[in-house]
Amino acid sequence: MRLPSPFSILKIGIGPSSSHTLGPCLAALDFRRRLDELKPPEGRLKVRLTGSLALTGRGHLTDLAVTAGLAGFDPEEEGRETVRSVHKEVTRLGRVTIGAHGYPFSPEKDIVFDTDVQSLAHPNTLAFSLVDANGRVVLEETYQSVGGGRILGGSMATPEQGGDGKPSMNAIVDLCLNESMDLSAFALRHLAADGVSEADAFERLHALWEVMSNAVDRGLNAEGLLPGPLMLERRAGEMFESCQKNIRHYGILSRDVTDTALYAIAVAEENAAGGRVVTAPTCGSAGVVPAVLTMLKERFRLPERKVLEALLVSSVVGGVVVENASIAGAEVGCQGEVGVASAMAAAAAVHCLDGSVPQAEAAAETALEHHLGLTCDPVGGLVQIPCIERNAVGAVTALNAANIALMGSGKHHISFDAAVAAMKQVGADMSCKYKETATGGLAALAPKRIP
Ligand code: SF4
Repeated sequence: MRLPSPFSILKIGIGPSSSHTLGPCLAALDFRRRLDELKPPEGRLKVRLTGSLALTGRGHLTDLAVTAGLAGFDPEEEGRETVRSVHKEVTRLGRVTIGAHGYPFSPEKDIVFDTDVQSLAHPNTLAFSLVDANGRVVLEETYQSVGGGRILGGSMATPEQGGDGKPSMNAIVDLCLNESMDLSAFALRHLAADGVSEADAFERLHALWEVMSNAVDRGLNAEGLLPGPLMLERRAGEMFESCQKNIRHYGILSRDVTDTALYAIAVAEENAAGGRVVTAPTCGSAGVVPAVLTMLKERFRLPERKVLEALLVSSVVGGVVVENASIAGAEVGCQGEVGVASAMAAAAAVHCLDGSVPQAEAAAETALEHHLGLTCDPVGGLVQIPCIERNAVGAVTALNAANIALMGSGKHHISFDAAVAAMKQVGADMSCKYKETATGGLAALAPKRIP
């Protein structure tokens, strides 16, 4: 039984979307590497974005992301301003330089948005090609952006999965109980089998936690409008400051719960602004896990080691979903994004509070169960409404789920595996209108009321 690496679930990237921004950028980088290897002497670069990538790609900055990737932008190293400046520079020059060759490319003319969602093998499919002066395709690669910045196709065609079956949470819990280990130790064992030492793992986890913490801080200190036509004001900083000045402004929820919601909004606003976040499991849902862990770290004065272990626990939950269902809004709706983030955060919270492995599994199941059927209908195709507040709701649900689990023994009726199977089925039955196409639900109705 093999799980995806924690570092393929938790990845540093740029917002606003892991499937529509980070993934396409990584696919473009992969195609660039192919060109660099093969060195075709000439040709024009073309990109075709299809399905959900075409329908919500402009709002999710997919065109900027593929342009930046073709130009060699590394989302793990560089920030949002670089994406915009690279896109501007490529537009000005009308070409991308790879090695010794300059390939003509106009983002405006050479990126095609093909909105047909019916005939695709995957709703997030994109293709890159190099076409010579006679219209002959010299090189072509097709990729699928399957959620959380994970890409299939090109040099990434081989799944990470081993040959001994899909992982199930039930089997993982049994193994942990038999061997008296917790879920973080289980994840470390898998990393060790892949040659990653414990010291290296914690170094990488520390880097992820820094990005998460910085996103909370930046979000709480930012103000102004989010990009895009909705003209949304950033609110996290103002709301947090108001609560610090007057405890009554915390309103009807406890300080811990309210802070958690505000931290989630802070990160989700950073993500919406194209800032640097960690996929957990996606960019759209990137606020949930850091919000819960930041509050718990402050409230219980947890050592960083405990928080980093909790990240490993969250990655086990996310990994089981990736292998058995999907974390892409375009495949299963928001239940696979904020729903799964909430499940990851719930299990992580149980770990932080020294709960048992069965309690962590129960918490993850409760959080996911109560997100089943959640649609993805981003207004204007932007990761703003309902996404920002939805991160807050997902984070608070995670606290509730962890609390319920910690009050019990971990024994419960529906397993996490069953909830994942249900989520997959609900996602398959869900109309495309509600799967990141911005053609149904809030996306279809709300713009009429927005000035
Ligand atoms: S509604 Fe949910 S799945 Fe859709 S873009 Fe927003 S956060 Fe992502």
